[in-house]
Amino acid sequence: MTDLLARYAAFVDDVLLPLEPLVLAHPWTAVASQIDTARQEARHRGLWAPHLPAAFGGLAMPMAEFAEVSAILGRTPIGHYACNVQAPDVGNMELLLAHGSAEQQARFLRPLAAGQIRSCFGMTEPARAGSNPVWLDTTAVRDGEAWVINGRKWFATSAEGASFCVVLAVTTPGAAKPHQRASMFIVPTDTPGYALARNIPVMGHVGAGYASHGELTFTDCRVPASAMIGAEGAGFLLAQERLGPGRVHHCMRWIGVCDRAIDLMCRYALRRETAPGEPLAYKQVVRHWIAESRAETEAARLFVRDTVAKLERVGQRAARDEISMIKYFVPSVMQKVLDRALQVHGGYGLTDATPLANWWAHERAARIYDGPDEVHKDAVAKHTLAQYLPPRG
Ligand SMILES: Cc1cc2nc3c(=O)[nH]c(=O)nc-3n(C[C@H](O)[C@H](O)[C@H](O)COP(=O)(O)OP(=O)(O)OC[C@H]3O[C@@H](n4cnc5c(N)ncnc54)[C@H](O)[C@@H]3O)c2cc1C
Repeated sequence: MTDLLARYAAFVDDVLLPLEPLVLAHPWTAVASQIDTARQEARHRGLWAPHLPAAFGGLAMPMAEFAEVSAILGRTPIGHYACNVQAPDVGNMELLLAHGSAEQQARFLRPLAAGQIRSCFGMTEPARAGSNPVWLDTTAVRDGEAWVINGRKWFATSAEGASFCVVLAVTTPGAAKPHQRASMFIVPTDTPGYALARNIPVMGHVGAGYASHGELTFTDCRVPASAMIGAEGAGFLLAQERLGPGRVHHCMRWIGVCDRAIDLMCRYALRRETAPGEPLAYKQVVRHWIAESRAETEAARLFVRDTVAKLERVGQRAARDEISMIKYFVPSVMQKVLDRALQVHGGYGLTDATPLANWWAHERAARIYDGPDEVHKDAVAKHTLAQYLPPRG
């Protein structure tokens, strides 16, 4: 494993970091061929799809090892994409691997695993609080051998250019339990009635291709019964199952962001002088920022590793508090570390000469997607307080 991690690190240093300035300066679609070349190199070096089994061209890494890889790839905004472990595809791959039918795996998972197509995930809706994903307006109504989907989704990351969308729609409005109302469907994006209405601008960027966030409309969008993933009414549970490991992947990626920010902060602090012979690194405040950032990043890394160990030992449900805790703890560390790194760089930090400004803008969403901080904190507090309540009699 140590050797493999060293190979991932060398790939980032030798191939991805030199490509980074180009990617930061252009829309994703304008540098697609250069990024594809990097993807070819990832394959050539045996680094492709670490999360997938060998039968799907991957390295069959257990989650603990994949988490370490994720921290290395997280050091650059293109790391995960280069190795085909980028959200939302990684979550869709894991979902189809665990719950896809043989036909769904052959038609959708296989080309996704090979990097021939991309996908997106449509759960959040403009008219309903995304924080409460059992409350959806989009419906799927059975009509003979088909399901007819109507509704609107937004913030579907990577929707532009995606070949299919995994969609959550209400199939049993009268279900006894709210989390049994929805089912999950695969909707090919060339299905009549499916439309990408627009790319939503996020933090000043319209986004393109993989880096887009789409608003989607479904108008009498008809898919065959075989488009359903898993059982009818299981949509919410499948979405939760998809998001659990997804939160771990994100957290380790954010630790990679912290590692790189500290690296950039140290290099610049040594290079930049405020007067002849007086580098920023001599200033006590900068030294403290470096020291605090290192301590907080290491604490976050150990917390995520510990969560992965628990998740693998006892399963997602029993580890739900730890998953929630890392989901709000790690972004808070990342924000602090990025802010210090930006401050050390002065005005230069706000340019696109480093990935810091890009991360500052786009990783702010970390405190919102896959459950806003407040929702996770509320859940942890609820489960903690429950231990102090008298048993119900
Ligand atoms: C960059 C980005 C990418 C995304 N990608 C996808 C994607 O690919 N697919 C997809 O389906 N969705 C995606 N989303 C949507 C994301 O999952 C939602 O934004 C998120 O679930 C929050 O839902 P909302 O925006 O509707 O906020 P709301 O639910 O309206 O909440 C607004 C705010 O209210 C507060 N709040 C909400 N509930 C509670 C509570 N119970 N207690 C206390 N406070 C509360 C929180 O502070 C929250 O930020 C993405 C979002 C962003 C920003």
